[in-house]
Amino acid sequence: MNIIFLGPPGAGKGTQAQIVCQRLGIPQVSTGDMLRAAIAAGTEMGRKAKEYMDQGQLVPDEVVIGIVRDRLADADCQKGYILDGFPRTVEQAKALSTFAKIDVAINLDVPDDVLVKRLSGRRVCPLCGAPYHVDRLNGETVCRADGTPLIQRDDDKAETVLNRLAVYHQKTAPLIDHYRAEGLLKNIGGGLSLEEISEEIFRTLEAIQ
Ligand code: AMP
Ligand code: ZN
Repeated sequence: MNIIFLGPPGAGKGTQAQIVCQRLGIPQVSTGDMLRAAIAAGTEMGRKAKEYMDQGQLVPDEVVIGIVRDRLADADCQKGYILDGFPRTVEQAKALSTFAKIDVAINLDVPDDVLVKRLSGRRVCPLCGAPYHVDRLNGETVCRADGTPLIQRDDDKAETVLNRLAVYHQKTAPLIDHYRAEGLLKNIGGGLSLEEISEEIFRTLEAIQ
């Protein structure tokens, strides 16, 4: 199955995508992770992308569309994938439909006040990308999977978080109506725990298989 995870930054797309991908044995295709990998590798594309990312702005459509088109052509994507953080604009969604057949778009719906708290408390493993939250870390400072010291992403700092939410409402939220019109939208409401959201996602996926 080819799945899109929609939702604002901090909705838990990455965390849920990781859980679902592990259970289904399909790859998680995260444009944010791929862009951060390009930055870490010091490529020209990474250097340009970082300027947008540090301000909480979107990286230009043609850049991310190219990255995703290449990645979805890889062998491991042929039996399904979860797109996490792509598409983020209607333009990206239109381009995606020319090279991929999407089965479902799962929208994780979370109110803004919750998002701000989540994003500013978020810590990530710079090695494997695993996300954590200070409230659930009990003082631990390293990744549970590989022992790497956790960091705060530059774009999770307070000023950038507000920008990212504004950009989300302006450019990405219209995708909810876009995929609803295509009959592909499944909405999963806020106010649920991480575990409840995973269960809700699995129920939704089973129902459409
Ligand atoms: P994420 O890890 O998904 O929160 O993405 C982090 C940042 O990477 C975003 O704030 C954007 O600057 C950039 N980014 C990730 N995915 C996209 C996308 N599909 N289109 C444009 N920019 C993106
Ligand atoms: Zn790790």
